[in-house]
Amino acid sequence: MAKLTLEVEEYTHKLREKLQEAGYNYYVLDNLIMEDAVYDRLLRELQELENQYPQLIEPDSPTQRVGERPATKFVSIKHNIPLYSLENAFNIQELKSWQERWQRQPLHKNKKLAPPLLPLREEVKNQNLLNKSDWFPTVSSLAQVITDSYSNEIDLSTVDYVCELKIDGSALALTYENGLLVRGATRGDGIMGEDITQNVKTIKSIPLKLKVDNPPSIVEVRGEAFLSINVFENINAAREKIGETLFANPRNAAAGTLRQLDSKRVAQRRLDFFAYTLYLEENKSDFSQFYTQWQYLQLLQQLGFKVNPNNQVCSSLNEVEVYYQYWNQERQNLPYLTDGIVVKLNSLPIQKKLGFTQKFPRWAIALKYPAEEIPTIVQAVTVQVGRTGALTPVAELKPVQLAGTTVQRASLHNSDRLAELDLHIEDTVIVRKAGGVIPEVVRVLPELRAKKAERFQMPTYCPECSQPVIKPRDEAVTRCINTSCPAILRGSLAHWASRGALDINGLGEKLMQQMVNSGLVKSVADLYNLTVEDLTTLERMGEKSASKLVEAIATSKAQPWGRVLYGLGIRHVGGVNAELLVQKFPTVAKLGQAKVSDIEAVYGIGPEIAQSVEEWFQVPANQNLVARLKTVGVTLESKGPTSNFVEGQDGLLTGKTFVLTGTLPTLKRDEAKSLIQNAGGKVTSSVSSKTDFVVVGEDAGSKLEKAKKLGMKQLSEAELLEMLEVSGI
Ligand code: NAD
Repeated sequence: MAKLTLEVEEYTHKLREKLQEAGYNYYVLDNLIMEDAVYDRLLRELQELENQYPQLIEPDSPTQRVGERPATKFVSIKHNIPLYSLENAFNIQELKSWQERWQRQPLHKNKKLAPPLLPLREEVKNQNLLNKSDWFPTVSSLAQVITDSYSNEIDLSTVDYVCELKIDGSALALTYENGLLVRGATRGDGIMGEDITQNVKTIKSIPLKLKVDNPPSIVEVRGEAFLSINVFENINAAREKIGETLFANPRNAAAGTLRQLDSKRVAQRRLDFFAYTLYLEENKSDFSQFYTQWQYLQLLQQLGFKVNPNNQVCSSLNEVEVYYQYWNQERQNLPYLTDGIVVKLNSLPIQKKLGFTQKFPRWAIALKYPAEEIPTIVQAVTVQVGRTGALTPVAELKPVQLAGTTVQRASLHNSDRLAELDLHIEDTVIVRKAGGVIPEVVRVLPELRAKKAERFQMPTYCPECSQPVIKPRDEAVTRCINTSCPAILRGSLAHWASRGALDINGLGEKLMQQMVNSGLVKSVADLYNLTVEDLTTLERMGEKSASKLVEAIATSKAQPWGRVLYGLGIRHVGGVNAELLVQKFPTVAKLGQAKVSDIEAVYGIGPEIAQSVEEWFQVPANQNLVARLKTVGVTLESKGPTSNFVEGQDGLLTGKTFVLTGTLPTLKRDEAKSLIQNAGGKVTSSVSSKTDFVVVGEDAGSKLEKAKKLGMKQLSEAELLEMLEVSGI
């Protein structure tokens, strides 16, 4: 067993307190203080810690109980059969582990309980069974056959599963005596619930009387009460109008509604209910002769309950996975919320044999949909240096699965963001994927922080070159200003070779690292002096690849001046700004001599960019770089068309925004762009409400579609040239 440290003990204690607080808010006050997915993960972590250190388990730990003791608004009642919770799986791997676990249970030893699954499954799939008017005797006799053949061993490969949508509502236990609804109760802590019979009777999809002539004396039905999204939104809109606090989500609203003291208000809220299981008095009627969960679902329907129509029998975990993936997408189109699927072993005899743990049935598991936000621990913070010298702190995380991938690192952006988060090493943090792609730390849970935890401080020296870093007072970014810092050089090379700049094929990250480390390349200009012999000295670089790379580098010299300017990586000069600049400054010499005021006069260029460009050209190392690039033959002037645009005058197209789409008859895309920009117009890449004209060529795609939808003015090349007063070029 791992050694229990004081830190672990302290963390476990804090984790438990936090979960207890959240559980009390959730179950008793119908209040949400953290996301469900966050709660689930933290609970899992507590469970793992308690498994590892059983001495830390306390009787009131949230791992030891199903829910919370109910509040005292209603009469407390003891459930005849406890309402268990469900174990959670967060991915398919965990589902497989569950399967391995239940398969390890000694199912074979008691042959009496082994049902012949194959014939049964066939019967169940053939649903005629339940449509026959004499279905009771049919099922009974089938059951008899099954009982007689109990001596069969279970063939685990034939075990099937029932997949059900996990409705995100509130569990109800309904008791029917001689076919009449006599009691409706909340789950409470699973042992004790609240008697909310009056409220339950307002739910239209719950029958007050079972639809059979000879009901067993006692039937207990379990299911989920829920609010449709539509109804939920209406309730919240109405609450907003009268200034009442809003419900956090439909589940929260359903739970709150069920525990309303005034059942008239409950009736107005239009709760709904899906039944998912029932308990019958064993051996007391024909009803007890059921052998699968699937039959139970059919029976519930026969009894007058609403059963989710999307439930399905699956004969393997692969089929379960398909069902899960399908509903993970399709759930958006359901009128109610689901937070995962519930996978149940179909065979009731196997269910019975497997039984329950203290909290869960062993024969069922909830497979949750991937969470959007999830907690994890920051194990360390590393600092990366980018091509502009900016130092970016990066959280090294305890790996977690988030929206389909394993996340191990998340950007912390800069020191201002760090200060805002007040991040300490070993903090528990919530991570999310920004825009669904890039992991980021959303917030810290300081309540779980260890007393001795150390706040992370940004370094005062560059972690790459050990030179002092600076942080200008009005900037959030800390920067290394050593121009020969290897990290900056690597970043500059990557930017230079990127697709929007010189577009050099075959110059990958590893290779650049080797070039910099070996001292072969100290500036982007050095690339143009590299020989095949130089390159073959590098690791895993054969002659063939070396000559290909030398060729690609040589070809890049012909890239237009606008791309070269972008490739220089001057701060704030992105691809679009570089294009704007080269129109006005067709040679590097002209741009190099320009004053801030000249540069600022270019349409679309602001003072910050202008300042940055002027400053860049004043640095001797940069002047030297330009001279060297000129020597090696990199394009440093425009070769494209120039227009009639007269400097200092407003252009013909000033203030107008254009989008180009499709292939124009005579002009290349870049040429059309230059013409528009020279005339003071702006060219953007996507159609928006700010677009004035869409210039349409052949094979125009989605931009044209969008422009049509928005009713935008379309131009042909001829019409554009007319506007520009250019009679062809
Ligand atoms: P659970 O909600 O994860 O799963 C069990 C429940 O699923 C059952 O009680 C049942 O009501 C429901 N269910 C829906 N469809 C079902 C179906 N087809 N078959 C069987 N059951 C079905 O378990 P729980 O113990 O209620 O877990 C607590 C839930 O409450 C978790 O989702 C947790 O995130 C949430 N919670 C959140 C907070 C918070 O602070 N956000 C605090 C406590 C609990």
